[in-house]
Amino acid sequence: MNTELRSKTRTTADWQAADAAHFLHPFTDFQSLAKKGSRIITKAENIYLTDSDGQRILDAMSGLWCVNVGYGQQALIDAATRQLKELPFYNAFFQTATPPAIELAELLAEVTPPQFKHVFFTGSGSEGNDTIVRMVRRYWDIQGQPGRSVIISRRNGYHGSTMAGASLGGMSAMHAQGGLPIPGIEHIDQPYWVEHGQHRPAPSRLKAGDPPRGAGDEGDLGAGISREQFGLVAARWLEEKILAVGVERVAAFIGEPIQGAGGVIIPPATYWPEIQRICDKYGILLVSDEVITGFGRTGRWFGCETFGARPDLMTFAKGVTSGYIPLGGVMVGERVAEALIERGGEFEHGYTYSGHPVACAVALANIKLIRELGLVERVHDDVGPYLAEGFESLKAHPLVGDAESCGLMGAVLLVKDKDGLKPFDESVGIGMVCRGHCFREGLIMRAVGNRMIIAPPLVITRAQIDEMMALIRRCLDLTLADARREGWL
Ligand code: PMP
Repeated sequence: MNTELRSKTRTTADWQAADAAHFLHPFTDFQSLAKKGSRIITKAENIYLTDSDGQRILDAMSGLWCVNVGYGQQALIDAATRQLKELPFYNAFFQTATPPAIELAELLAEVTPPQFKHVFFTGSGSEGNDTIVRMVRRYWDIQGQPGRSVIISRRNGYHGSTMAGASLGGMSAMHAQGGLPIPGIEHIDQPYWVEHGQHRPAPSRLKAGDPPRGAGDEGDLGAGISREQFGLVAARWLEEKILAVGVERVAAFIGEPIQGAGGVIIPPATYWPEIQRICDKYGILLVSDEVITGFGRTGRWFGCETFGARPDLMTFAKGVTSGYIPLGGVMVGERVAEALIERGGEFEHGYTYSGHPVACAVALANIKLIRELGLVERVHDDVGPYLAEGFESLKAHPLVGDAESCGLMGAVLLVKDKDGLKPFDESVGIGMVCRGHCFREGLIMRAVGNRMIIAPPLVITRAQIDEMMALIRRCLDLTLADARREGWL
């Protein structure tokens, strides 16, 4: 039987058997998935998926944080088709370029913050962050300071799954496999108030521009400090790390404006401006990983604009093509571009698919569509604030210790006891229980520990947000019923 015919006649069970027999999925316990069987997604339109049993599912995660314009956009399909016919591939290695790659580079310089005039294309976010490691180290070589090679990032940050990406990331389970992190990567704690701020005694010095916290400010559990105060405390961990490593050894700091895979950790408004001040003070490069927060997700084109930072380098992927085809890259700010271009000679780095013409053609159509539909403004002025209202109302639910959103990213913290935000016993796996209900009820919502997170397509309407909120409430109720019945509370 030919492949096309076979696809039409296969049942869900057939798909699951073939999947279990041959397909090793990313970030998956292969054996337990094989026992359970994958859910087979067969098609999608707008913000809804359809599975192989014909069930309709509201995709509140935009695929994997990427389908910003929603599914089925004809302009992107046409762009890919046209380019596949015209020129499906040519490389950019040997003094050649293709029109879509050039035009996309031009357009990216227009929609990104003003310091960015140049782009280095990659195939994914991970490759983008590998590029960052090589590029910042190369920059300091060119500056005659090769000793500046250490990159500081954060625990519970996510920067991809390649050797450098996973090393920059602060996921301990990833570090435990494969001898990571690679040398020259240092981590500081994340700006997560629930974990580090709510019980922390107030430090004695908190004004912007103050020297770092003294040992006496570290501390025992206390009454807690405000989120704004905590933002400054958390940013100063960077300064402490720079001083501990030695300024002359530090190359860069990298962070996601909002940690996505870490559980949609939205930092206090005070955090990023203080990070910027510290980077400026010591002359170290600031890198914003915008793989999730780019292309309108936070209500501005890029998350650094929402949070008041002016990065030297910016990684992007996902939303650049709305996930219709793989593409990533690094926006290179004037400071680094000047060194690389004017004084760097050959940069010994690149990928077969750097500037892939079909991917670039899709990205062009995608960015134009984001503009035409006014999606960034819509997130900022309309659906973002509307989602925030919905999330605010979730705080009344007995299971919800906190609910916060920024643009179209949000997280609901599930707690055993709202007083002191006491967590459930880890063995309960409360997030996975809730996620199971979401799956059955036709909602894709992701669980990160005890945080339930969403990032729906930017085309979502107010009526669809109502539909999504009703589903979220229903799944919270079902989870609460489980918790009461099983005695987890
Ligand atoms: N950086 C961030 C912030 C991400 O969220 C991700 C993926 N979720 C990556 C990098 C890695 O991107 P990719 O999976 O395309 O390699």
